[in-house]
Amino acid sequence: MILRKQFLENVGQTSPSPMLIEVARAEGSFFYTPEGKRYFDLVAGVSVSNVGHSNPVVIKAVQEQVADYMHIMVYGEMVERPQVEYAHRIAELLPGDIDCVYFVNSGAEAVEVALKLAKRHTGRTELISMRRAYHGSTHGAMSMMGTPEGEEWKAEFRPLLPDVKSINFNSFDDLSLITERTAGVLCEVVQGEAGVRLPNPEWLKALRSRCTEVGAMLIFDEIQTGMGRTGAMFASTKYGIEPDIVCLAKAFGGGMPLGGVASKRTILEDFTHHPCLGHITTFGGHPVCCAAGLAALNHLVDNNIVESVEHKGAMFEERLKRHPRILEIRRSGLLMALELGESEHLYKLMEIFKEEGIMSDWFLYCDTAFRISPPLTITESEIEECCEIIERALDRL
Ligand code: PLP
Repeated sequence: MILRKQFLENVGQTSPSPMLIEVARAEGSFFYTPEGKRYFDLVAGVSVSNVGHSNPVVIKAVQEQVADYMHIMVYGEMVERPQVEYAHRIAELLPGDIDCVYFVNSGAEAVEVALKLAKRHTGRTELISMRRAYHGSTHGAMSMMGTPEGEEWKAEFRPLLPDVKSINFNSFDDLSLITERTAGVLCEVVQGEAGVRLPNPEWLKALRSRCTEVGAMLIFDEIQTGMGRTGAMFASTKYGIEPDIVCLAKAFGGGMPLGGVASKRTILEDFTHHPCLGHITTFGGHPVCCAAGLAALNHLVDNNIVESVEHKGAMFEERLKRHPRILEIRRSGLLMALELGESEHLYKLMEIFKEEGIMSDWFLYCDTAFRISPPLTITESEIEECCEIIERALDRL
């Protein structure tokens, strides 16, 4: 009780109604309260805990790195093994000829860097994002929340970045708004906070062509879709599209705070001159975070976890689509929105879920659907058990 009181008094709040569940420990697909109540984690820290909570491989990597050294010097001056090894490994897996990573601290910072890089590389100023996009909460990233939906979140913080325009995700007509004035087009490959909106693969191809035609940089935000979430290591590879810049964060740090902006070395090198230090960040690429991220990536690859994601997602979908309360399921791998049609139902279901030991959530721009995006390591028997609990909760609605 005292901890909750101090949480509300001394920890800065942003939510008018925080969940207020105290966490004592977490393991695999679950976390536990001090009283021992177990929760199925269907949020995974918003697509962070892809290799499961307290993964021993990640813990070992963190412990070893902490014992060797933590922070030494600001980003980009020293040769730090975990950083170099992670950059080298991820470059082998990133789409196309992307071969270089600039490490930062978070998703929003990755987006900031990507926008600056697009402006710096093209010498242009216009930036384009998609309606119902979410890219983070800093001024630049917030500017890219597509209007009009994003206006509710942005209005009180204006003025934001100038020369920003929104187009409709999946609209072929809107592609003509990308022109020779455009520095960069920022796009989630699957829109997460819009409530899991899937791309039309033909539209993605047309978007790539249009950016190439007018010389605008195509920036994919893979912060939520990356590291296996959609059933491929990156959603760009799933859809066969090669962006110019990729933003990474969330699961990229294996549970530690880490972001990255990946591009060709020849493009990222723009930050070294006119001016030099084009983006600087003290903790970017922290050795402990890189050690954790690399261990998590190796765990995904060594255990063929990404290959299992589509099947696991389909298990949830096949079973839950039969429940009369579920009107629609939108899914890419283990990123899923289950549509109830009405927010009142959704809010009530969240209360029932809490009682039944299920952690889910809704989406920033969609409060009529609930989220299923568990750790990718969830087992088939856990999926069966979880579906049983979800069905029971839906019956109680
Ligand atoms: N981009 C996408 C697609 C996201 O889902 C998020 C966070 O939810 C971000 C960017 C921002 O990441 P961060 O919270 O690490 O700044």
